[in-house]
Amino acid sequence: MNTRADSAVGPATVAIVGSGFSGTMVAVHLARQGPNSPRVLLFERDERLARGVAYGTSSPEHLLNVPARLMSAFPDEPDHFLNWLRDRDPAVQPGAFVSRRVYGDYLDDLLRDAARRAGSKLVAIRAEIVDVIDEALGSFSLVASQGTRFQADAVVVAVGNPGPQDPIPVPDRARATRSYIGDPWVDDPFLGLKADDPILLIGSGLTAIDLLVEAESRKTVGTITAISRHGLLPQPHAPAAAIPIPTLRTAARPTMRDMLRNVRLAVKQTEREGGDWRSVIDALRPELQPLWKSLDDREKGRFLRHVAAFWDVHRHRVAPQIHEIVQRARREGRFSVVAGRIRTVLDDGPDGVKIVMNRRGSSTCETLRARRVINCTGPSRGLHSGFPSLLTALCNRGLARPDPIGLGFLAGEKGCLIGLKVPNGQRIFTLGPVLKGQLWESTAVRELRQQAADLARHVALAVSPQPGKTLPQPRWEPLARPSRAV
Ligand SMILES: Cc1cc2nc3c(=O)[nH]c(=O)nc-3n(C[C@H](O)[C@H](O)[C@H](O)COP(=O)(O)OP(=O)(O)OC[C@H]3O[C@@H](n4cnc5c(N)ncnc54)[C@H](O)[C@@H]3O)c2cc1C
Repeated sequence: MNTRADSAVGPATVAIVGSGFSGTMVAVHLARQGPNSPRVLLFERDERLARGVAYGTSSPEHLLNVPARLMSAFPDEPDHFLNWLRDRDPAVQPGAFVSRRVYGDYLDDLLRDAARRAGSKLVAIRAEIVDVIDEALGSFSLVASQGTRFQADAVVVAVGNPGPQDPIPVPDRARATRSYIGDPWVDDPFLGLKADDPILLIGSGLTAIDLLVEAESRKTVGTITAISRHGLLPQPHAPAAAIPIPTLRTAARPTMRDMLRNVRLAVKQTEREGGDWRSVIDALRPELQPLWKSLDDREKGRFLRHVAAFWDVHRHRVAPQIHEIVQRARREGRFSVVAGRIRTVLDDGPDGVKIVMNRRGSSTCETLRARRVINCTGPSRGLHSGFPSLLTALCNRGLARPDPIGLGFLAGEKGCLIGLKVPNGQRIFTLGPVLKGQLWESTAVRELRQQAADLARHVALAVSPQPGKTLPQPRWEPLARPSRAV
């Protein structure tokens, strides 16, 4: 399909693909640039804007895993979220763990405010972008799944984590009968279950905990067993004093083993002095990106294989209330955790599925039966057949390249995607969880809010009119599906 030329001279156009935290906050910062701000097209495939997977939950039981005082969306206004909350409920405490749904309302509010500032220059379009073409004239064509094309002078890819991948082959029938759910975020994973139906979760991290909490609130779901390689559950938050950053890098070429030893020493020392291990993990946070970058790919691989599962449950902690729900369900026999490896998933007719597994440290196979198995292993790694089509298309066009350890994609200092070829003026950018392979800490609000503010500055500069530089005029075509001002 071709486009209709619009001859009017206007501001440059920035297309943002994805309106989770990252895309929303880039749009918000661009709208705050005043009269010279670029026109922004914010593409979102889902019905709702400004939420993404994390803040799109409708369950009030799903809480932030970070206290309110640390969740401002603006790096230079640390109390912004707390003040927003207190405008609605003056009694909110800085240490409160509020619901993720409320945080989604906060982001939605910020986007609406940005739209008021930007007027017609900020447009949200409901479409899934499946391809981006760098055109000869210097602009980009964004191709939506229904074939519509949109043109822009710069593109921000803010698509978040790729969805989960099946950890083992699953019989087609188990999938068709919903005995197996591959992605718990797509639709209600408990739909159609009876109160005594046994459920098996693959994985015991934050996704599994979300599902358990949801099941507990409904009281209509049977016993839940979570199976993961190490059988570890996320640790709870607890008060922990701030301490100076411990030194982990003691050699010019640090190894994972050295760093781990130094973390353990720092924890031991802190605990000897009456402190808590959480202080060490929290103190390391600003150092994590430089530490990760200092490791070579072999050491990063070692971390992923041997340490990441332990690191994650200490670093990504749950609110104390959530911990209490988990412990109560365990005490009362509705929830258990097994350390082991699933070998096979077999269809078991109307009864659901059979799982063949080994417990950790045992070579004996056991069979477990479940009415439903739900994959809670989290975002997938590396390019594979089920990978989001936009990222695959960007790689095929040479506009993006997976990072060497397969956690995400490569980008330069200013967030420019690195592919096999240099796209138009390097005006295709990214941020967020897709940079995990390069930065490791690139998923939580604290890091993403800084990335969004910095990226908006780079993007605005990249499309701003400069002497001797002309950007092609954007061309438009009527939208195939309704779009709306935010
Ligand atoms: C369950 C959960 C809980 C979390 N809790 C916390 C917390 O308490 N505190 C904290 O600091 N961090 C938390 N995080 C981490 C972090 O805040 C999120 O990962 C962050 O919101 C990521 O935002 P994002 O915009 O990069 O990605 P996403 O939120 O994944 O948003 C990406 C958006 O892009 C859209 N999209 C994708 N592809 C396309 C396409 N091709 N075309 C159009 N649209 C597309 C998606 O529909 C989605 O809306 C949590 C994460 C999760 C998953």
